[in-house]
Amino acid sequence: MTFDVDQKIVLASNNAGKIAEIQAILAHYPIIPQARFAIDEVEETGSTFIENAIIKARHAAQASRLPALADDSGLVVDVLDGAPGVISARYAGVGSNDRQNLDKLLQALEGIPEQQRTARFICVIVLMRHANDPFPLITQGVWEGLILEQARGENGFGYDPVFWVPEFQCASAELSPELKNSVSHRGQALRQLAELVMQQVSI
Ligand code: IMP
Repeated sequence: MTFDVDQKIVLASNNAGKIAEIQAILAHYPIIPQARFAIDEVEETGSTFIENAIIKARHAAQASRLPALADDSGLVVDVLDGAPGVISARYAGVGSNDRQNLDKLLQALEGIPEQQRTARFICVIVLMRHANDPFPLITQGVWEGLILEQARGENGFGYDPVFWVPEFQCASAELSPELKNSVSHRGQALRQLAELVMQQVSI
């Protein structure tokens, strides 16, 4: 099955930070956040980013009857055996906000020396042409860094203030949105997805 160049795509997310980054990177695509269709969030019951991205995309495609794109992402910290991982958005409990999640992470890493604070952001993007799509387009991005001892910077969202980016010698929250998108896990995965979609576009 091919995509039409003007095909509307529903974005299966209510996270303002993510939505802004996705719309900036896929600027040439008519991407519409699911809230505009009054689609609510679905429970993320998977134990991997891929499972949860499929769950979210399928839910939005089913409810909207349009192709749907989902991002499932999170922070994986080595010394915490991969936590917060797929529960990054609710690490400090259901309904917790970015600050509470970030504080819990800093607490969990208290006293851990710099060389053991290695971590990475993961992003899985899934595009389902329809709710029963047996062969969704799936891409992944990985962004390596270290967890700081204190928050820095005002940009981005989530764990950006504590994610040290070695290549730029600053926290992710100190990068401009454009620079972050050019290197981040989400930027990598979305650019791969855009290439896959281009290969399928019907002209
Ligand atoms: P999801 O909505 O279940 O995919 O949860 C993603 C969570 O991972 C976000 O709420 C953030 O806590 C974290 N996260 C993912 N990507 C980023 C990022 O680019 N910067 C900071 N935190 C992120």
